[in-house]
Amino acid sequence: MRAMVLERLAEPLKLMEWPDPEPSNKEVRVRVMACGVCRTDLHVVDGELPNPKLPIVPGHEIVGHIDVVGAGVDNLAFGMRVGIPWLGYTCGHCRYCRTGRENLCDSPLFTGYTRDGGFATHLLADARYVFRLPDAGNDVDTAPLLCAGLIGWRSLRIAGEGRKIGLYGFGAAAHIIAQVARWQGRDVFAFTRTGDAAAQAFARRLGVCWAGSSEDKPPEELDCAIIYAPVGALVPAALKAVRKGGRVVCAGIHMSDIPAFPYSLLWEERELLSVANLTRHDGDEFFGVVSKAGIVTQTIPYPLASANEALSDLRNGRLQGAAVLVP
Ligand SMILES: [Zn+2]
Ligand SMILES: [Zn+2]
Repeated sequence: MRAMVLERLAEPLKLMEWPDPEPSNKEVRVRVMACGVCRTDLHVVDGELPNPKLPIVPGHEIVGHIDVVGAGVDNLAFGMRVGIPWLGYTCGHCRYCRTGRENLCDSPLFTGYTRDGGFATHLLADARYVFRLPDAGNDVDTAPLLCAGLIGWRSLRIAGEGRKIGLYGFGAAAHIIAQVARWQGRDVFAFTRTGDAAAQAFARRLGVCWAGSSEDKPPEELDCAIIYAPVGALVPAALKAVRKGGRVVCAGIHMSDIPAFPYSLLWEERELLSVANLTRHDGDEFFGVVSKAGIVTQTIPYPLASANEALSDLRNGRLQGAAVLVP
């Protein structure tokens, strides 16, 4: 197998060749057809998340085919088309696992962070956390659904039923969730970096009713907002944009510090909360929605060996849509 490997934090990934790994009990080996590049991969590479496994193969938006089935696997078979998400393992017995919140498990493993991920030709996965995908479908276009879509979906659900929804940071997650929210009949307001006319035009093409810069006041009060950009200053901006009792959801795994803000922005029962990881139930629900909502992802394919270039294009905001590595 070949993989793009992070040996030391904040260094470029290196292309390496290893013997193909053999699955242990309850594991499968998957041949990777496409792996999306997520902002979380940047946070892993930059050392912004605590205690990554090193060396690590990043990547947790994986579409592939089952290549070898390990012992004790009864839900997957050779050749099946599957998706592998960020949630790679949970303990099954902590208080969170026992109460339907395995996304908060006390001893989880995460794909591309604490177990090797999909910036590779092959990887091992715990079969219990692998999603079966329809046999037909475009692998590159499907890959971003595995995190941008899934975590986007969880954040949309947690944002509540509000009709007027703001999305801060119009990248991979927002471009998928804008389509889901439109399909649900909501009015979507897209907030981009200051003066990013290209991102605003992209958002309008996807049917949002308004697009502007993140410091702009939207034309109407919002019921709720989701922040996808890792920028703490967006928290007071979003609180300012939502109505009384409105909710602001922070959907990223890492964010710069939130600046001090007057209590009046939170007053009147506005709510501020974060979304962490995903549950397998989120995945089942979301893939059900995908087939009905007719989501079209915009992707930019890169060869596996160009993973560093894909990461740097994401870092510099040069992408309209989602970067996807194709081994
Ligand atoms: Zn647990
Ligand atoms: Zn991700």
